[in-house]
This record gives sequence, structure tokens and C-alpha cells, in this order.
Amino acid sequence: MRNHYIYCPRCGHHPLTDGIPIGDTHARQYCSQCHYVVYDNPRVIAGAIIEREGQILLCQRGIPPGVGRWTLPAGFMERGESVEEAAAREVMEETGMQVEIRSPYSIFSVPPTNEIYLIYCAAPIAWDNPPGPESLRVAWFCIEEIPWEEIFYPAIAQILQRYFDEGLTGRHGVYSGSMETGLIHFVS
Ligand code: ZN
Repeated sequence: MRNHYIYCPRCGHHPLTDGIPIGDTHARQYCSQCHYVVYDNPRVIAGAIIEREGQILLCQRGIPPGVGRWTLPAGFMERGESVEEAAAREVMEETGMQVEIRSPYSIFSVPPTNEIYLIYCAAPIAWDNPPGPESLRVAWFCIEEIPWEEIFYPAIAQILQRYFDEGLTGRHGVYSGSMETGLIHFVS
């Protein structure tokens, strides 16, 4: 869904113009008074696969959408963060666990929702805090226990399946792709 502004966020002029700003390539909202351009670029979701002795940590969603369904700890990056910081923060917020971000694992574009998932492999350091309100429960799952029908996002189910297919060897490839282009695997 595209952000739509009524007033110019910079000068308050109304209405904004819809069209291709001079020198630009894409149609956007822009201000005819102060020339502010509303860019509505994809948003980055950072998260982590945390493994411990063949088990993966999953969160049961406590907030819409998908309350009661399971996913990896992940969420939108905030301004001023690195993507690794965002992944570690989201893990802390949703699970209470402090992790070390180790290596990138999946770069997954979802053009229909204007989102990019950056999922890292991470290792537990300490688990001293309870899960935040975004999670109903947090639990470890081995592959036989993964509630596949209750994984919320198809992209997350694919990531989990790949991770287990690689055999929990501690050596994982890096994947880049999307629903449209399929998956590209870069062997580490
Ligand atoms: Zn303006």
C-alpha cells in the first residue's frame, strides 16, 4: 500500500501533485511550492534464525496480523540503525534473548508488499528477559516439531525449510531472491 499525504510534510502546502517530478523516473507525490518529493521506497524487515543444538527459536505472534501463528523474530528497521542492530533489537524485543549476529542468510524481496527481508544467522548469548508483548510464546523447535501450517509468512516457511535442508551443519549459504525470480543460492 502506497503512503499518501494530504499536506506537504515540509511546508504544509495543499494539495500535493501526483506525477513524475522533473528529472525523476517514477511517478510520486511532490510539492509544487517547496519541491519536496514523497519517496515511498521499500521497507526493510530485519530478523534472525537462532539455532541451538538443532533447534530453531520461533515466536508465536501476539499482535495482528496473524495472532497465534508462528514466525522468526523479525521487524521493521528503525531510523539510525544498522541492519545487524535492527535484527538483534527485534530478537530482544520479541524473545528477550540477547544474540550475536553471525552471518547473512536470506535476502528476500516481496515486491507486492514493498518489503525486503534480511534474515541473519545468530547465536544465543543470554536469555535474561521475558518475551515482549508482541509475542504470546517463544519456543525452540526441531524440524519434526515445526508447525508448518501455522507459520505466518510463506517466505519464513521457505527460509526455515532451507535451513533444515542444509542439515544444521553450521555452514549455511546465502540466498537472494523473491517470489517472482525464484531463489539464488550463493554457497558460503
Ligand atoms: Zn512543500
